[in-house]
Amino acid sequence: MGYTDEDVIGKTSLEFNLWKDLSARSKLAKKLDQNKTVTNMVAEFVTKTGEIRTALLSVSVVEMSGKLNVLSIARDISDRIVAEKKLKELNRELRNQNKKLETLNIELEAAKQKAEESDRLKSAFLANMSHEIRTPMNGILGFSNLLKNMNISTQERLTYLNVIEQSGNRLLNIINDLIDISKIEAGQVTVNRSECNVTKQITSLYTFFKREAEQKNLELILQPRVKKEMITLVTDEDKLVAIFTNLIKNALKYTKEGSIIIGFRRVDGVVEFFVKDTGIGIAKDRQKAIFERFVQADIEDRDVYEGAGLGLAITKAYVTMLGGTIRLESEEGKGSTFYFTLPDNEAGSPSQPVEKPEDSTRQEQEFPMLNILIVEDEVFSDQLLTVVLQKMAKKIYHATSGAQAVELFRQHPDIDLIMMDIKMRNMDGYEATKAIRQMDKEVVIIAQTAYALVGDRKKAIEAGCDDYIAKPIIKKEVLKVVGKYFTV
Ligand code: ADP
Repeated sequence: MGYTDEDVIGKTSLEFNLWKDLSARSKLAKKLDQNKTVTNMVAEFVTKTGEIRTALLSVSVVEMSGKLNVLSIARDISDRIVAEKKLKELNRELRNQNKKLETLNIELEAAKQKAEESDRLKSAFLANMSHEIRTPMNGILGFSNLLKNMNISTQERLTYLNVIEQSGNRLLNIINDLIDISKIEAGQVTVNRSECNVTKQITSLYTFFKREAEQKNLELILQPRVKKEMITLVTDEDKLVAIFTNLIKNALKYTKEGSIIIGFRRVDGVVEFFVKDTGIGIAKDRQKAIFERFVQADIEDRDVYEGAGLGLAITKAYVTMLGGTIRLESEEGKGSTFYFTLPDNEAGSPSQPVEKPEDSTRQEQEFPMLNILIVEDEVFSDQLLTVVLQKMAKKIYHATSGAQAVELFRQHPDIDLIMMDIKMRNMDGYEATKAIRQMDKEVVIIAQTAYALVGDRKKAIEAGCDDYIAKPIIKKEVLKVVGKYFTV
């Protein structure tokens, strides 16, 4: 307690202020009265310098020379108490750490499962991609090779060419999807809103896909109200068409028999569109995943449906960009309905009757003879355009760069039509168009590009082009676009 001999000799303990809490002393006194001895009592004492110490007391009443005395042994256990407290704290901390470890373990396990799943998906994706690219390539290369044989009938030749064309289209679809998804992920897709006659768009999509449905023995049905109720929305027309196209294509792809219905309804400030099929349906546990890129409902791809699993990811991204949501109801073996909404911002313009989609394809004979300049740095693309345009050409000039195109136009101002490639070394198509427009405002310039990016059209028009076509060049498309500017 810090007291010296001198301090204590000749005094009783009562003369020191020893107890921190006097009630503890009274308790001890009471116990001693009853039992004469008290062991292992813990109490706190104040040292000479005022420090608080904890002690373990063993106290007995003893008789010495006929007098009652109190014999008290106090062991200082302050350090032990501190140690015990620390131990308790450590224990608590340990328990906490354990708990944290447990959660960490759970998280790790989940991450591991996710990694394994994504590994499985990656393998499935690579296998599927390889399949998706090799199959059409196989068709193209295999049947081109067969075509080299001189002894095949016209019928066979046509069959081979059909395979090549279809394979090419399939390959193009994959490439387009890959480009679209890359652009979406790079945040490069912009929304171009304008007034859009939705009814007209749905109707022409219906007309477009009806034949394909019939070939598959499926009934494509346009909900009757689509024809009755005209809707005009301010939205991005290209994206709306892309959304519908993807959903209808999927419905056609995943339905073996029955029907596909296209329609819409208006609810709570939105227009909800739907594409409903009686196809194979989608298992509940895959319904969320299919909206992710490269994901197919059937991971192992047992039924080998065509596709890279990008369509719905692109569709969902577009719907979101347009301010809507997409959802699905589906039952395996029964069919699926995909619903998507768009804000109902009815443009309010007087409704016009639905126009019948016009067949504006024209034959070459219906064109006047033109002086044409093909600007193209790739030999095959130039050859293709030359073949497509030759029947309506008085003369065809060829340039392989923007600079050469400008020069050729300077020398031959009687050129009527310029087919302008965009991506070229030594002055690209935009620059060349601008330069040509400074000399001449009348000549028809049609941009043709393999980028096929949304926004390309706008850029081409801004540079001074009259129109735009995306490669691959299809004769029908070229005649349709050129036909807008020339009549006999
Ligand atoms: P893809 O069709 O190229 O595989 P999508 O992203 O368009 O890719 O679709 C993802 C998956 O969703 C498909 O692989 C298919 O399993 C499932 N799916 C999409 N639409 C339908 C549908 N209408 N009926 C049944 N399954 C569908």
